[in-house]
Amino acid sequence: MARTFEIAVFQGDGIGPEVIAPTLSLLDELAEGSRAYSLRFIDLPAGAGHYATTGEALPAASIAAARDADAILLAAMGLPTVRYPDGTEITPQIDLRMEFGLYAGLRPVQIRPGQPTPLRLDGGQPVDFALVRESTEGLFFTLGKGEVGADEARETLRITRRTSEKLFRFAFELARKRREEGKGRGHVTCVDKANVFRAFAFFRGIFDEIAREYPDVTHDHAYVDAISLWMVERPWSFDVLVTENMFGDILSDLGAGLMGGLGLAPSADIGDANALFQPCHGTAPDIVGRGLANPIAMVLSAGMMLDWLGTRHGISELREDAARIDGAVGSVLGEGNVRTRDMGGTHGTEDMITAIRTAMQRVSA
Ligand code: ATP
Repeated sequence: MARTFEIAVFQGDGIGPEVIAPTLSLLDELAEGSRAYSLRFIDLPAGAGHYATTGEALPAASIAAARDADAILLAAMGLPTVRYPDGTEITPQIDLRMEFGLYAGLRPVQIRPGQPTPLRLDGGQPVDFALVRESTEGLFFTLGKGEVGADEARETLRITRRTSEKLFRFAFELARKRREEGKGRGHVTCVDKANVFRAFAFFRGIFDEIAREYPDVTHDHAYVDAISLWMVERPWSFDVLVTENMFGDILSDLGAGLMGGLGLAPSADIGDANALFQPCHGTAPDIVGRGLANPIAMVLSAGMMLDWLGTRHGISELREDAARIDGAVGSVLGEGNVRTRDMGGTHGTEDMITAIRTAMQRVSA
């Protein structure tokens, strides 16, 4: 009998609803064709628009429903015009990471043939690596609580043994999984600044301890500044990179840039009990309501959700459907006939979704 998975859906603000609605319809089509699983979407209110009308950015009822769901799908939240009284932006997507302890931020960096990368890949080297960003502590520890005086401001960077151990195990398990899937050689690089900060020497020390639990996976270390250079010079040489929250925040945007922009970059935030999947982009207020948003990042994030559910619950059909999404996006990019404006083309959201749907049907046939 088919197992039903409840998916908490945050449509959010700006282009959020524009990219998530067609993505849910693609997921529906896949689930309808499956005997192993079905999906039930639960629409949950949150975000800047919700705050503007109700005074609440992330209602307790939405948190509770998301906690009980099998997975969380989020489009984008926040609007530059809607802010808390202290001037900061509404960011329930970050609050959810803290609330559910989603410590492992997974940001795949993959440049498929036809992807509008600013790199010159003359040698045809395939770029496909995974950045794992710790997402609950590091320099985000005092988020919203930093001390600001007249002449001085302070934020605290916090690294804990407990979270670091879980983070590194996640990275090593991921390297194994990627190797099994033929995506990597089974290698993890710890990205830090251990030469200057004692907290990062501590981080690196824990990494080395966990590495001993995975003798089949090779490992090394690199400083964050060097990695930034190498991400541009030789991004094909990486497999799994694991790092602190703020370093990961910056490197993941660099990764999105290599992939051709935010409209193409998916992500997952994974904890022990919950996981949230969302595109790397924000709400793109400059293009909202015009049907121009690139839905690829959202669609790929939904694919990552199917893969995570399939791996967690041992349902191979979910993983096959995740691969179907991935394959369909790959073939649309490779053919190059449909390109949204951020990719240098003239097509809109609907055109891209239609192309992905057609390719998905072709892959399934
Ligand atoms: P946030 O701070 O919420 O992460 P941001 O400041 O990084 O947001 P975005 O909202 O992601 O900004 O938009 C940055 C630029 O990228 C904008 O010009 C926007 O139009 C463009 N952009 C973002 N997402 C998409 C998309 N899916 N399709 C096309 N363009 C996009």
